[in-house]
Amino acid sequence: MQFSQSERIHEEALQHIVGGVNSPSRSYKAVGGGAPVVMERAHGAYFWDVDGNQYIDYLAAYGPIITGHAHPHITKAIQKAAESGVLYGTPTPHEVKFAKMLKEAIPSMEKVRFVNSGTEAVMTTIRVARAYTGRDKIVKFAGCYHGHSDLVLVAAGSGPSTLGIPDSAGVPKSIAQEVITVPFNDIEPFKEALEKWGDQIAGVLVEPIVGNFGIVEPKPGFLQQVNDLAHAAGALVIYDEVITAFRFMYGGAQDLLGVKPDLTVLGKIIGGGLPIGAYGGRKEIMEKVAPLGPAYQAGTMAGNPASILSGIACLEVLQQEGVYEYLDQLGALLEDGILSAAKEFNVPITINRLKGALTVYFTTETVVNYEQAENTDGEMFAKFFKLMLHQGINLAPSKYEAWFVTIAHTEEDIDATLHAVRQAFEALMT
Ligand code: PLP
Repeated sequence: MQFSQSERIHEEALQHIVGGVNSPSRSYKAVGGGAPVVMERAHGAYFWDVDGNQYIDYLAAYGPIITGHAHPHITKAIQKAAESGVLYGTPTPHEVKFAKMLKEAIPSMEKVRFVNSGTEAVMTTIRVARAYTGRDKIVKFAGCYHGHSDLVLVAAGSGPSTLGIPDSAGVPKSIAQEVITVPFNDIEPFKEALEKWGDQIAGVLVEPIVGNFGIVEPKPGFLQQVNDLAHAAGALVIYDEVITAFRFMYGGAQDLLGVKPDLTVLGKIIGGGLPIGAYGGRKEIMEKVAPLGPAYQAGTMAGNPASILSGIACLEVLQQEGVYEYLDQLGALLEDGILSAAKEFNVPITINRLKGALTVYFTTETVVNYEQAENTDGEMFAKFFKLMLHQGINLAPSKYEAWFVTIAHTEEDIDATLHAVRQAFEALMT
């Protein structure tokens, strides 16, 4: 494979776009550098780059593309939206239909509001939790990503007795001081944090199934304990389901796990590939939002018919029978094949998988929290990433990301991927 056009375009991009990319995760910084492959076209499970190379795609645009690229039902909906005008700045019947669909799928969302991204939805949900409780502090779990707003760009302090330090330049220390970070899947530090700051905490922000240091499920009972303790302290529980909603089943991870939050944040899949975010929750909390209540949130693009119609079409595809069983079946084939290749070539890996989403960690340890994910072998992952890319398999360029199978992938795609995995493992170990 050769990448001369990608390299040329990246050189040009560096002159005009900061870092040559419009989101830092798209650069290859975490996998040893180099020009990221520049894609020209995508269809179904495949990408084609500007040099004409074809790839099987497991990035799925970091999650939204669960139906595969350019799904005909979604494409038709977007075309229809384009012909009818893409932005009105008025209410539309489509947004009401979509709000009803989301509520039916995730019943804890009694009232919904649409925004334009997951970041925006998280940011506003925190504001609503603060408005409702009259408190300022937020608890989050180490390694969980909730978008790039100031408050959630905060690294783990050294245990619950330390308040957060900013993870990014430009985030005021005073804001980071409002965030308490504790490890996922460990109830004791969470308990200690509540004992110390319980009466100041507005909300606990949770990825109910983590997607941001790989796919990590909560230990049995962990989320229920978080709920019980948070509620006893008078704090709200916010589930960030930007990755998880409609990923493992039609509905939220909260329905899969049987634990209900007070507020829920959505994004990614619910736009069918177009920009969207949404938040919602208990009626009396949501009624704090303007124009009913004092918590202000607005948006010129919010509820635009293109994103809404694309999202409705995406959920209609996901309502079809057998979708999640199929994703699970392909995910299992992938997991089994990678594990047996690892055994054959003696590669130390651990796989966390739920249905069609999995993470291959270069470690023999189990991974249930961020510290363990951090301790996996990033150099080995970087080599593996490039070996796979050069065989036409597109993974996310980070050891912390998941592989996402879509309904457009076939068993043949999985076979081809496993062939590439075996070649990559052989090369890694020689
Ligand atoms: N929350 C979670 C769990 C995410 O994974 C992300 C993005 O990856 C976000 C929020 C932010 O969403 P967006 O990139 O749409 O702003």
